[in-house]
Amino acid sequence: METAEIRRRFLAHFGRRGHTAVPSASLLLDDPNLLFVNAGMVPFKPYFLGQESPPYDRAVSVQKCVRTLDIEEVGKTTRHGTFFQMNGNFSFGDYFKEGALELAWELVTGSQESGGYGFDPDRIWVTVLQDDDESFDLWRSVAGIPEQRIQRRGLLDNYWHMGVAGPGGPCSEIYVDRGPEFGPDGGPIVDEDRFLEIWNLVFMQEELSSVRAKDDFDVKGPLPAKNVDTGMGLERVAYLLQGKHNLYEIDEVFPVIERASQLSGRPYDGGGERGHETDVLFRVVGDHVRSALMLIGDGVVPGNEGRGYVLRRLVRRAVRSMRLLGVDEPVLPELLPVSKDRMKVSYPELELQWERISSIAYAEEDAFRETLKAGTQIFDLAAGEAKRAGSTLLSGDRAFALHDTYGFPIDLTLEMAAEQGLQVDEDGFRRLMAEQRDRAKADARAKKAKHGETHHYRALADDLGRPVEFTGYDEVVSEGTVRGILAGAGTVQAAGEGEEVELVLDRTPFYAEGGGQLADQGIIELGNGARLQVLDVQSPVTGLIVHQARVLAGEVTLDAPAQTFVDVERRRSISRSHTATHMVHKAFREALGDTATQAGSENSPGRFRFDFSASGAVPASVLADVEARVNDLVLADLLVHQEYMSQQEAIRSGAMALFGEKYGDQVRVISVGDWARELCGGTHTERSAQLGLVKLLGESSIGSGVRRVEALVGADAYRFLAREHVLVAQLTEALKARPEELPERVADLVERLRAAEKEIDRTRVDRLLAAGGELARGAEDIGGVSFVGHRVEGATAGDVRKLALDVRGRMPSGRPSVVAIVGSADGKPSVVVAVDDEARSRGLSANALVKAAATALGGSGGGKDDVAQGGGADASHTDEALAEVRALVSRASVGAAAD
Ligand code: ATP
Ligand code: MG
Repeated sequence: METAEIRRRFLAHFGRRGHTAVPSASLLLDDPNLLFVNAGMVPFKPYFLGQESPPYDRAVSVQKCVRTLDIEEVGKTTRHGTFFQMNGNFSFGDYFKEGALELAWELVTGSQESGGYGFDPDRIWVTVLQDDDESFDLWRSVAGIPEQRIQRRGLLDNYWHMGVAGPGGPCSEIYVDRGPEFGPDGGPIVDEDRFLEIWNLVFMQEELSSVRAKDDFDVKGPLPAKNVDTGMGLERVAYLLQGKHNLYEIDEVFPVIERASQLSGRPYDGGGERGHETDVLFRVVGDHVRSALMLIGDGVVPGNEGRGYVLRRLVRRAVRSMRLLGVDEPVLPELLPVSKDRMKVSYPELELQWERISSIAYAEEDAFRETLKAGTQIFDLAAGEAKRAGSTLLSGDRAFALHDTYGFPIDLTLEMAAEQGLQVDEDGFRRLMAEQRDRAKADARAKKAKHGETHHYRALADDLGRPVEFTGYDEVVSEGTVRGILAGAGTVQAAGEGEEVELVLDRTPFYAEGGGQLADQGIIELGNGARLQVLDVQSPVTGLIVHQARVLAGEVTLDAPAQTFVDVERRRSISRSHTATHMVHKAFREALGDTATQAGSENSPGRFRFDFSASGAVPASVLADVEARVNDLVLADLLVHQEYMSQQEAIRSGAMALFGEKYGDQVRVISVGDWARELCGGTHTERSAQLGLVKLLGESSIGSGVRRVEALVGADAYRFLAREHVLVAQLTEALKARPEELPERVADLVERLRAAEKEIDRTRVDRLLAAGGELARGAEDIGGVSFVGHRVEGATAGDVRKLALDVRGRMPSGRPSVVAIVGSADGKPSVVVAVDDEARSRGLSANALVKAAATALGGSGGGKDDVAQGGGADASHTDEALAEVRALVSRASVGAAAD
C-alpha cells in the first residue's frame, strides 16, 4: 500500500468518525522550546494547556515532523527518519481511553477492503502503564488481545508529559511483531526491533504541579476535561505494509536510493537487518535528501545556526555520503527531483515552489563543494603534520580553525580523521567553539538576559489563564493592569526606583519583537504614580508579552492599574519600514519571478533589511526598477488595510504566506492596495504615501542562494539623499564641473593618472637600463669568464630580469659571460642569472646558479639554462647570494682550465 494511501485512509477513518481534518502545520511553527515541530500534538499545545479553547472536539492530522536527535540513528536502525510524518487523532474533552482504543484497533486490524490496514490481530502487542488496569482491561474487552500480549511498563516508557507543569497521563503503545527472524520472543519489553512500535496513544488525565524528570513529578489532581493525543509513524506503517525491512525502502524514500545506486555504480544490498556499510550510506542519502527538501520547502535556508545549520548538516551529510560512495560530481540535481516527484503527491507546494527550493539546495551543494576543496587540503596538511610529529591526535586548534575559517563541519573533520586513523581533540574543539559563541552572544545575552529560561514565563502565562491582549493595532495608548513582575530569576511582588524589571500587563499596545519587526519602546505609568521606561518588549512564550523596563520613579506593585504610552515616533518609523518591506518584496517578485521569496527581514526605525532567495547577484537595473516601482506606488497613496480570514481564504486571495504560521487558524492579511498581500502580524502605516520615500542602498550575498537588500524609508531616505547631494556639490566645486559631467571628469582623471604612472615607470626602467653599458664594461674576469654581479635597490623582479638580459647583450662577444643581478623591492629580494652560449658550453647553467643564489636569500628559484630567476625572504643576504654565484663560476673555470 502506497504511503499516500495509508495517509489517506487515516484521515478518512477519523474523518468518518467526526474528526475535523487539520492540515499539517509548518515544520517551523513558533515554539520557544523547539527547533522544529517534532510531534503531531505540537500545533494543538495551546488547547491541551488550556491557553486557548479548541474550535472542535475531535481532530485528525498528518503532521510533518523533524527530529534532529534522531540524525545519528538514520540508516543504523530500521525505524528512524530525520523527517517523518505523524498521523494523529485528538480528542479535546470528548472520547477517552475506550474510544481511542476502539478507533485505533478498527483501523489497524480492519480489512484492507473495508478501508483498514489489515494487520493480523495475532501479531499485535500493546504496552500499558504499570498500574493502568483500565487500559489493560479495555485491550482485553474491546480488542480481545490475550493477556500475554499486553505488557506493563514503568513511568519512563509509558507516562507522558511536556516536561513542565501541565497535563500528563499514561500512554499505551501498539507494536507489530515482524516475526522470529528479526529477534527473540518476549514482546516489546524484550526487543524493540522485532516488535516495532507503530502507534502511541496518550491519555491526558491529570494535572501535574511540578515536573523534575520523565519519571519524577507531582500530581495536583485530575484534569477537568480529559484529552487524547495519539501519534502513528506513517513511514513505519508503510514499511510494514510494503513488506520492507526498514523505512528507507518505502515508496517515498527508496527511489532516491535507487538513483544514488545508479550514480555510484554500486548496488544497494538491503539484505541485512543492519545492512552493510554502503547500505547505511545509501539510507543516509535517501533520508537526508528528503528531509532537506521538506525543510527548504517550509522556508529554511542553510546557515550556521539553529534551523539553518540542521539543514546545512543534512545537505552536507548527503553529499559527503555520495562522495564516500564514489560520486564526486554534484549529486542534488540528480537526487532532489526524484524525492520531489515522490513527495509532491502529498505536498503539491513542492512542485509550485520547485524553482526556489532547488536553487537553494543546489547553491548549498556548490558552496559545500568549494568548502570541501579548500578544507580537504588544509585537513591533509594538518593530518600530515600530526603524523610526522608521531601523533595520532589532531589538535582542537586545528579542528577549530577548519571550522571557523573554512566552514568545515566538525562531524566531517571527525569522519576524515577516523579514516586516517587519527583522533580529534574534541574537548579542545568544543571549548574553543564555546568561547567563540560566548563572545558572539555576550551582547545578545545582555539584552535578552532572562529569556533562556522559559519556565518562569510559562508559570506566569498559566497563572494569567488567558493570553495578554495586544491592543497595538488600533491604539498606541492603552489601559491595563500589572499582572506579573519578574526580576532576577523569578517573580517578585514589587520593585523600586532604579531597578530593571520585566513587566506583564493583561493588555498592552506595545509590540513585542517578532516577524522581523523590532519592539516598541515607551513609557508605562501606574495608578500609584510609578513610572517605567520600556526598553524592549519580547514574547518569550506564546500568549505572553513581556516589557523589559527600568523603574524611573515610585514603586511597581502587582495589580496596579497602568497607562501605557508607546513612543509614537519610533513606532511610526518602524511601521513605515514594515510596509516598505512588503512593497519591496512584491516588487522583487514582479521583477524576478515568484522564486524571490522572503527569507528574513528586519524592520527598524527608518531602515530595513530584506533577505530573499535568488540564484545570483541582482543586476543594478533590476534594483533601479524595483525602487522606481515602489516609489510610484508610494505616491499612488494606496490604502494599507488588514483583514482576518482562514488560511485557505488567504492563500486563495493571493496572499504570500510566510513560514512558521499555523495553518487552519484565522490569519491576519495585510494588503497594500490590491497589490501586495501578505500574512503578517506586524504594524503598518495606514496609507502608502506615509512612507514618503524608499531608497534601496544596494544588495549583497549573505549565503548560498540568499541575497540581502538594505534600504532607508521616509526621513532617513531623505537625509541620505540630501547628504549625497552635498557630496556632489563638493565634487563639482573641486573639479569645476557640472554634476552631469562628474563621471566623465573623474574617469578622465583616473585615465590621466594611469598614464602618468606608466610614464614614471618607463623613466625608472630607462634609468635602470642606462646603467647596463657601464655594468658590462666593468665586468670582472674570473678564469676567462666575464662576470657581472650587481645589486639594485627598489627594482621589481621584472626590472631585474630586463637589466640582466640587457647587460648580457652588451657583454663582449666571443667570451663566456655570466650576469647575476639581485634586486629588492619592499624588502623582498629577487635574483636573475643570465649566461651566454659560450658559458653554457663550459657547463655553466643559469638554472643551477640561480638556485644557489636563491637559497642564500632564503627562498627558491629555477628556470632554463640561459636565464633563470628566483626570489627569497631576506634582502639582507644579497651579498652572500652574489658570492655564491661567483664561487660557482670560479669553480667551473678552474675545472675548465684543468681540462
Ligand atoms: P522510538 O522509541 O522508536 O524512537 P518514540 O518513543 O520516540 O519512538 P513517539 O515519540 O511516541 O516515538 O512518537 C510517536 C510515533 O511516531 C512512534 O510510535 C513512531 O511510530 C513514530 N516515530 C517516532 N520517531 C520517529 C522517527 N524518527 N522516524 C519515523 N517515525 C518515528
Ligand atoms: Mg524516539
